[in-house]
Amino acid sequence: MKITKLTTYRVAPRWMFLKMETDAGVTGWGEPVIEGRARTVEAAVHELSHYLVGQDPARINDLWQAMYRGGFYRGGPILMSAIAGIDQALWDIKGKVLGQPVYELLGGLVRDRMKTYSWVGGDRPADIIAGIGQLVDAGFDTFKMNGTEELGLIDSAAKVDAAVGRIAEIRNAFGYSIEFGIDFHGRVAAPMARPLLRELEAYRPLFVEEPVLAEQWEQYRRLADATSIPLAAGERMYSRFDFKRVFAEGGLAIVQPDLSHAGGITECVKIAAMAEAYDVALAPHCPLGPVALAACLQVDFVSHNAVLQEQSMGIHYNRGAELLDYVVNKDDFRLCDGYIDPLPLPGLGVEINEDAVKEASRTAPDWRNPLWRHADGSVAEW
Ligand SMILES: [Mg+2]
Repeated sequence: MKITKLTTYRVAPRWMFLKMETDAGVTGWGEPVIEGRARTVEAAVHELSHYLVGQDPARINDLWQAMYRGGFYRGGPILMSAIAGIDQALWDIKGKVLGQPVYELLGGLVRDRMKTYSWVGGDRPADIIAGIGQLVDAGFDTFKMNGTEELGLIDSAAKVDAAVGRIAEIRNAFGYSIEFGIDFHGRVAAPMARPLLRELEAYRPLFVEEPVLAEQWEQYRRLADATSIPLAAGERMYSRFDFKRVFAEGGLAIVQPDLSHAGGITECVKIAAMAEAYDVALAPHCPLGPVALAACLQVDFVSHNAVLQEQSMGIHYNRGAELLDYVVNKDDFRLCDGYIDPLPLPGLGVEINEDAVKEASRTAPDWRNPLWRHADGSVAEW
């Protein structure tokens, strides 16, 4: 069998799908995208196609190495997201050819169902209590929310009080009937992370995500030494070679590789295994579309240390399309009390509605995150 063609479709809300065709008529789908730079990743996918077209899609390990090592320069969000989506499509083809879900090809299920959590609130954390109430009624008991708005390198006690006060309100409203993680979103610098973590500790969040930016990774150990809150990060790390530093240094309790940013299934099962060896939990990052989520689930279902799966149903970024709009087998993605069952179909387990994808690609928006500025006019982390 040979790969014959790669076609990319950028679609709302901010996703991109890759269709990989073969001369045997088997088609694989991937989701190679980095949020806000879809066109750049699209160019990278097509640039990588010369390693792929004419090759046997069964040789995923070799193709992955050719794409990664073959170009001399490697790593980073653009190239690793392109490789990730291509890798997903290759696994989809392999599973479909062999008639098995990918998790069967990776050794079989390690659990019967996977726990997911739901986002609440938007960019600016207000009206969260009502949002949680609605999701509790829908069966969720685990949530994630943004912890702060823009925060200066050194900022006021009032901003700290506002951030902590919102969390206190949530805990007071729901007690311990719910759990929640708090995403600092890289908006907090090390000097402010310390007081925030200290004051949030009383409300016992499940974790704090990106307490500082991934490029400040050496701070994770220092912050972890100063708090009992489990620290999480990883959406802005793109390979084993990025993650090995945080495993060796310590500090993270949870790693969150993104199956569409960190080299795909081939790379993320290895990152998961590295994490297991350090007693670190896995919670794949996934504010993206259905192929990315399906790829995450393939890894979750073979990784003993997978504890939580992010998913984007109802997320504030999903303007213009929802998670299952491009999916034929919607029932397979049904959540029961916040858990999802193993996807039963061969390959990644997601049947893409190609007509809907093509139609949506005609009017794909160029999603960009907002550019935030501090009161003095300087650029703020979003
Ligand atoms: Mg995050």
